[in-house]
Amino acid sequence: MNYQKSLKLIQKYSECPNCGNDKVGNGQGTLDINDDTFIRTCKCGCTVKVKGDENKCTY
Ligand SMILES: [Zn+2]
Repeated sequence: MNYQKSLKLIQKYSECPNCGNDKVGNGQGTLDINDDTFIRTCKCGCTVKVKGDENKCTY
């Protein structure tokens, strides 16, 4: 995933779309970016997975 795209996603999902938590780390949530996937998890159980152009929040 290129830098520009991951930066946009980080900004877009800096807050959890489910509960609004804006923290990652310290047990609050995780942020994972690899070659083609962006994953943001939250302690509320929401997982945002973006692969290519597919965006979804799963619980
Ligand atoms: Zn949340």
